[in-house]
Amino acid sequence: MALIVQKYGGTSVGSVERIEHVADKVSAFRAKGHEVVVVVSAMSGETNRLLALAQEIDPQPEGRELDVLLSTGEQVTIALLAMALKKRGVAARSFTGGQVHIRTDNAHNKARIVDIDRQRVSAVLEAGEVVVVAGFQGVDEDGNITTLGRGGSDTTAVALAAALEADECQIYTDVDGVYTTDPRVEPKARRLERITFEEMLEMASLGSKVLQIRAVEFAGKYNVPLRVLSSFDDDMDGQTGTLISYEEEGMEQALISGIAFNKDEAKLTVLGVPDHPGVAHQILGPVGAANIEVDMIIQNVGADGTTDFTFTVHRNDFARAKEVLERVAEELGAREVSADDKIVKISLVGVGMRSHAGIASQMFEILASEGINIRMISTSEIKVSVVVDEKYLELGVRALHSGFGLEQSIELTQ
Ligand code: ADP
Ligand code: ASP
Ligand code: MG
Repeated sequence: MALIVQKYGGTSVGSVERIEHVADKVSAFRAKGHEVVVVVSAMSGETNRLLALAQEIDPQPEGRELDVLLSTGEQVTIALLAMALKKRGVAARSFTGGQVHIRTDNAHNKARIVDIDRQRVSAVLEAGEVVVVAGFQGVDEDGNITTLGRGGSDTTAVALAAALEADECQIYTDVDGVYTTDPRVEPKARRLERITFEEMLEMASLGSKVLQIRAVEFAGKYNVPLRVLSSFDDDMDGQTGTLISYEEEGMEQALISGIAFNKDEAKLTVLGVPDHPGVAHQILGPVGAANIEVDMIIQNVGADGTTDFTFTVHRNDFARAKEVLERVAEELGAREVSADDKIVKISLVGVGMRSHAGIASQMFEILASEGINIRMISTSEIKVSVVVDEKYLELGVRALHSGFGLEQSIELTQ
């Protein structure tokens, strides 16, 4: 008998039929004697619908009220799933985040979980019931409802698994695992049997939305065995999909584990900035003060006493960042600001890169052979990222996927 936390995403609970299917899956686990905590998302499209409603009233609605609204999506699905379980004779009870004391900080719309009181959930499990918890939500110290950012139900599940010391956290979604890249962009993508926390964290932070970054962080920190698998197939064992775990001695090591991409970024450049100490701070200081997060940063080698300074931000912040930058450029006496929100970032990720030189140049060669111009480059120990024009997203991802032979298994045994 094991204690399992299962999370079902929006598409997996997108209709009454699908909720009934989830109930079948949960009952099968119960029938085997496992204790089950289920975390659910809102029905697919619901969070977007609620967000659009709010924005009809105010394009920048207050965070607190927005959270009260957005959290309702998950309240619908917990109740429906609990009903479907009871109909099958499975004892179950639904709970909002607040009811199981998922306490967060007060950063509305992107709150972080700070504490979970395991007593409440444990008591219900001990009474032999399935605990159905609303994902994506919590309450702050003052009892205000908070939400955890898009995709946050993954984090609710992992945090509950960590707090309860569950044997496994299973993330059921509309794909049957983590693939070498998003199968919607490259249908030849291959499912990975295993991936390390480190690689998954890199993939998630570079744009692979299959798991929320914080969920992977949490799972790594508390060593929660995490598995991504399909909610649609009839496998009732929970042994398929992709296992995310620490690297183990003798584990087969792929050179590149995957390709991530991020369509949510935009690029800004200040051209002809006087090249003297403090310039980077004078440019990025006001951007930071406007609460805009910066991702990649490049400063060119100075020539003729001036330099160019480029950085990327989230597309949602593009207009505001441009405004700030135009003001700063004028103050600094820079030549001009150029801004482009039609870009994407494509990244190669793999722990095997550490011991293999030449991956970056191979990547550049593949992109060049497709006539794709690289606008920015950044590297770290286990990833290489490039920024290219948005129109090259599919071409770039597919060329790299086949160029690095990712559709076949090219695992090297160490
Ligand atoms: P859920 O609603 O279940 O949380 P998401 O839409 O958040 O589902 O995540 C699943 C989606 O993630 C898939 O449909 C797929 O298009 C996308 N995705 C992006 N990168 C990957 C990847 N490397 N492997 C698998 N899926 C990926
Ligand atoms: N319903 C939320 C969203 O759409 C949370 C989640 O699905 O994980 O982002
Ligand atoms: Mg998700």
